[in-house]
Amino acid sequence: MIKATGKIWHNGKLINWDDAKIHVLAHVTSYGSSVFEGLRCYETARGPAIFRAREHMRRLIDSGKIYRMHIPFSIDALVEASVELIRVNQLRSCYLRPLVLRGYGNVGVLATEENPIETYIACWEWGKYLGEEALNQGVDVCISSWTRIAPNTLPALAKAGANYMNSQLIRMEAHVNGYAEGIALDDSGYVSEGSGENIFVVRDGRIITPPLGASVLPGITRDTILQLARSLGIEIVEAPVPRELLYIADEVFFTGTAAEITPIRSVDRIQVGAGHRGPVAEKLQKEFFGIVEGKAADRFGWLTPVPETVGVK
Ligand code: PMP
Repeated sequence: MIKATGKIWHNGKLINWDDAKIHVLAHVTSYGSSVFEGLRCYETARGPAIFRAREHMRRLIDSGKIYRMHIPFSIDALVEASVELIRVNQLRSCYLRPLVLRGYGNVGVLATEENPIETYIACWEWGKYLGEEALNQGVDVCISSWTRIAPNTLPALAKAGANYMNSQLIRMEAHVNGYAEGIALDDSGYVSEGSGENIFVVRDGRIITPPLGASVLPGITRDTILQLARSLGIEIVEAPVPRELLYIADEVFFTGTAAEITPIRSVDRIQVGAGHRGPVAEKLQKEFFGIVEGKAADRFGWLTPVPETVGVK
């Protein structure tokens, strides 16, 4: 159950958590017309810090643009609002959920100026997504019988609420069959991504991840891994991944704001590599957590510090 905090940011103002409500006939409830983001704010020795805040807010604005939803706030304004919100809610570490939706007014599919564009940012305390153990031991996953949203259906580069109906089908099917997560193939039968994670494959010391044309979300953690691997001198490419490459890989891992870097130890009950976290995932985890937890230098400028208030909980 979500742990409520004091305030939610709405269209430039802070409102009480319980007042952040929408009408049942808002455009978004019938038609899924929302775009959103998920960010993490990590606790560091120098106070809370949001990970790659600008990149997430840029993707939010991009998602809105794809759906002709003009978000009337700049990247900087959204980042500032997030910092202020975390400070006011006195959180040391949290998950942040910016959410933009088409509101109450017209009830037809075509939203009009009568449907206001509402911008919210909420934050709350949150732990590990696939479990603490998953980061060390790895998870068991399956290939989904559901195909990832195809090009020319729902645009995958937008992080839109409606895309998550596809994600829910993938995730629910995996869950009822006893898997931690499902991996969807794209319209051409190549590996796309998990219901809420990008995927990486390691073979012979080289990392491969599906390209943006494989109906993947342009993950911020995906980009983080591309940059980190390159800086460590590890070869990494974006290329189509055939399903069976997962079975014969040395390592496979997920990335995402929620999943962070989660190793995959089996796919369709076929053991991947040694059946536990491999050395490449471990090395990347070490680099990643070193930076986000403020133990290593922020050499890419990925952290936005949140000034702490007196009496932080
Ligand atoms: N793919 C999907 C479908 C997702 O929902 C997410 C989570 N936002 C990701 C990939 C990973 O993206 P990010 O690293 O930006 O969290």
